[in-house]
Amino acid sequence: MPTPLSPLLMIPGPVEVSPAVLAAAAVPPPGHTAPRLIEAFGASLGMMRQIWQADAASQPFILAGSGTLAMEVAAANLIEPGERALVLNTGFFSERMMAILRRAGAEVIEVGAPVGEAPGMDEVRDALRRGSPCKALFATHVDTSTGVRVDPEPLCHLARAAGVLAVFDGVCATAGERFAMAAWDADLYFTGSQKAIGLPPGLALMVAGERALAARESRRAAPPPLYLDWHSWLPIHRAYEERKPSYFATPATTLVMALESGLGEILEAGIEARVAAHARTAAALRAAWRTLGLRTVPQSEAVTANTLSVLLFPECIDASLLPKIAARGVTVAGGLHPAVKATSFRVGHMGYTVTRPDYLRRTVEAVAGALQDAGAAVDVEEAVKALDT
Ligand code: PMP
Repeated sequence: MPTPLSPLLMIPGPVEVSPAVLAAAAVPPPGHTAPRLIEAFGASLGMMRQIWQADAASQPFILAGSGTLAMEVAAANLIEPGERALVLNTGFFSERMMAILRRAGAEVIEVGAPVGEAPGMDEVRDALRRGSPCKALFATHVDTSTGVRVDPEPLCHLARAAGVLAVFDGVCATAGERFAMAAWDADLYFTGSQKAIGLPPGLALMVAGERALAARESRRAAPPPLYLDWHSWLPIHRAYEERKPSYFATPATTLVMALESGLGEILEAGIEARVAAHARTAAALRAAWRTLGLRTVPQSEAVTANTLSVLLFPECIDASLLPKIAARGVTVAGGLHPAVKATSFRVGHMGYTVTRPDYLRRTVEAVAGALQDAGAAVDVEEAVKALDT
């Protein structure tokens, strides 16, 4: 619970965490073979399958590291030097994925779109058909620099039809946007703990399907770096799920305790209800932003994420708005994508926050009040009222 001294953290990760998650992390660090830690690790793996909506044959992994580690793990296990990887470019984090894939030796095929839009399915289909076969298709479910969301379901269909792996960066999406790993037959979906999962930063979380695991098995090139290699981690994760002690490299035991609590909270109402709460929150905030005359970087509602708002500054207002918002007790983030870095700001609304209408009200009040401070003619009351319509 933020105190008056700690501003409400409304950036697109890290996010405010629930009292239960805080309490779970506020224990002396357990050893990696402590019975309580083994139970938390094993239970979290099972809960990840439920939240990812993955089947029993899929393998969840919990690694100490940030979301970028999960991106590295994806490239290192799935791509051999010289293989082709198709990447949908919807912003800064798609570009990072391309950089990581190139370092892994991939030939990257990029399918782009204007900033604020997502590539069309026909373009993706055409790109998959052109030239020699691709090994995998990579897409950023929600790109945090543009607020653009892609629809993974048709991308999975295209990938299946072309015989390529379907890999999704869910760092700004998992548990906040619809994703049905088994039903859509996706191959790998990964995230970081500090976003819609609702934890402090520090865990890279991913679920690999059978085809992705088989791709690592049939690798002919040199094995991936030891820490990134699924082979290093598989026996440990299997042991934890059988509630047996194990060791490869020290897990972030404190965060695993918090993870068990956070995933449990999500599953109390169920993943569908949690995603629906993100959708309701995003719709309420869009209504509030409209009354304030704020336009979004995403160009249509179909590609607008539920987990964050990427908003354009109104005319004659610039990034000096952010300290004015902070002075009103709410921290939001600046622009990130180079094309809108100076002209946009970002508000995260994911995880525990979507269960706290008071946080949303404070955020809208702070943004509206700061706009007034900056000289804009806006109605704070009207903006707050729009949250309920
Ligand atoms: N992908 C996306 C979509 C992200 O939003 C982020 C982080 N903002 C990352 C990858 C990288 O994650 P991290 O900062 O935890 O390494």
